[in-house]
Amino acid sequence: MSYDVVVVGGGIGGLTVAALLSARGVSTCLLERNSQVGGCVARVEFSGHDFEPGMGLYTSFGPGEIYDRVFSELPVEVPETSLLAGRESYYSIKGGPASVAERLAKSIKKSGGTLRLNTPVLRLAYDESGQRAIGVDLLSGETVIARKAIVSNLTVWDTYGKLIGLNRTPLETKKLLKTLQGSGVYVIYASIEEQALSRLPGERFTIAEFTVAVSTPGSAPVGKRAVTLITTTDATEWFAFQSSEEEYEERDQMALEGFWARVHAALPQLGGDIEIIETANPRTYYDTTRRKLGMVLGFDSPATALGHHTNLPNVIMVGDTVTAEARMDHVVASALALVNDLTS
Ligand SMILES: Cc1cc2nc3c(=O)[nH]c(=O)nc-3n(C[C@H](O)[C@H](O)[C@H](O)COP(=O)(O)OP(=O)(O)OC[C@H]3O[C@@H](n4cnc5c(N)ncnc54)[C@H](O)[C@@H]3O)c2cc1C
Repeated sequence: MSYDVVVVGGGIGGLTVAALLSARGVSTCLLERNSQVGGCVARVEFSGHDFEPGMGLYTSFGPGEIYDRVFSELPVEVPETSLLAGRESYYSIKGGPASVAERLAKSIKKSGGTLRLNTPVLRLAYDESGQRAIGVDLLSGETVIARKAIVSNLTVWDTYGKLIGLNRTPLETKKLLKTLQGSGVYVIYASIEEQALSRLPGERFTIAEFTVAVSTPGSAPVGKRAVTLITTTDATEWFAFQSSEEEYEERDQMALEGFWARVHAALPQLGGDIEIIETANPRTYYDTTRRKLGMVLGFDSPATALGHHTNLPNVIMVGDTVTAEARMDHVVASALALVNDLTS
């Protein structure tokens, strides 16, 4: 198959690029390795609870702001949002941020673009000279041709390490990539009795080292609410346990017990009205997103030094490892700028 633009990865960045390009009439195909779109904001569902995948702090949904500007070009509505009580300029998104990803996916299809799930990309495909990228090779052996550009929504490490290939990566870039570090996160997905909600400080708050987000009503079985508790953790240490699965399990159990004791100590008023449903750690994030060491937050400044461009003129990057901050609105804004460049 052949398209003007092939987008690799269906995180917020890749989806925004593909939705805007398709709406502007550019033949576009997005390839996502998972069975659902969203990457870091993909739907997290366990035991009938639809959990907030992030910290639940989303900005720039006001009139004339970035989501308004992007969705005004698309044949779908921006998801319903409301300002969070006591949290000026932060919004809660009905259905969570996954609904933004899902609307963008719907928009791609409505505009005649192609979206392929369960389609892992292996690497770039090169022309006979071996100098010019002509598309991507899929894990299945198929080649998808990109006549104008390939947009990578993979992290900078994977764009160079996997797609472009380290043997084609300039030495300076390789050095820079080694210095680039981000944080990992440890997440507790819990269920809370609805009648206990009034004993919490609000829908979004920070307690001990955790940022807590209560999902919108209707996101859990009757009488319950889904709650996400997130804290940062050193990403690398979670990968030092690969030699033994038992050691890793033990590490995970110790982390959970320590964190859970601190949550209870900080919220004694909850008593037994909160129960753990599931957890996530950097290894889980690696498995679901393929991000190096599961690093998702808090990148050092060298990331932005790379910008959107790679050493190959028709291979461009989008996503939170090439924006100033790992935030959804920053990724969406940079995707719009990239599409403006591509279509000017
Ligand atoms: C725990 C947590 C809390 C957060 N809280 C907030 C918040 O409150 N507010 C906020 O604004 N932001 C928040 N963020 C940040 C925000 O969610 C991310 O910055 C943003 O979603 C990242 O989008 P991305 O475009 O970089 O793509 P990613 O989410 O990294 O997605 C990349 C996609 O590429 C796919 N992929 C990878 N390899 C391949 C391959 N070989 N072939 C095909 N597809 C592939 C992956 O499956 C994935 O779907 C949070 C992030 C996390 C992790």
